[in-house]
Amino acid sequence: MRFDIMTLFPEFVERVLGESIIGRAQKSGSIEVNTYNIRDYSKDKHRRVDDTPYGGGKGMLMMAPPIYDCYADILAKSKEDAHRRVVYMSPRGKVFNQDKAKELATLDQLIILCGHYEGVDARVIEEIVDEEISIGDFVLTGGELPACIVTDAVARLVDGVLSAPECYENESISSGLVEYPQYTRPFEFHGKSVPEVLISGHHANIEKWRAEAALSETARLRPDLLEQ
Ligand code: SAM
Repeated sequence: MRFDIMTLFPEFVERVLGESIIGRAQKSGSIEVNTYNIRDYSKDKHRRVDDTPYGGGKGMLMMAPPIYDCYADILAKSKEDAHRRVVYMSPRGKVFNQDKAKELATLDQLIILCGHYEGVDARVIEEIVDEEISIGDFVLTGGELPACIVTDAVARLVDGVLSAPECYENESISSGLVEYPQYTRPFEFHGKSVPEVLISGHHANIEKWRAEAALSETARLRPDLLEQ
């Protein structure tokens, strides 16, 4: 799967997504992440990409032309028949969740627009964006962190990124519950030992313990999931 991220801060995005599992997935070719500096598409001699909003008000807005030209360049570099979607990271959007991550992971290409300042001229959103996605009901200074979050959540569902689908199928939220508590060595830590059942080697009992623990942890931490 291919991710194309339009941003004013490509180094920031590359740095975050270049680390750990997502970084390795790019190196192995399971996913491709391209970043584009919207400033490179400005026709202004000072590479300006923002201006004051019509009608007045505080702050600056990102102008439509550089964003549109950046998008057109991405399309020119993309497969014509790719199953793609363009999303704008925005606090106005529907809040991102695991179901949305699964839906986006079926695409060949996800193009993400990161806003900054007071946001983006509405006309370019209308023209190129299929969907606005928020990562939560709060406002950040820019769309870069949200874009990294969406890319990470979607990329780890792409074949070859994690070692096996079981890695994400049974984990929190995907299963409808939060995950059961997990333990690793040492067996004893600050006087607390690992539940005996986990070292019993009895797989049915371990599964039963995990199922019950997932339920009680969900009731404790996310009772709203049980109501759903
Ligand atoms: N004036 C805008 C509004 O009230 O909707 C907020 C602009 S915000 C300061 C700047 C940029 O950060 C947005 O264009 C968006 O790309 C990004 N952003 C901020 N909060 C976000 C969130 N919760 N989810 C996704 N993107 C967000």
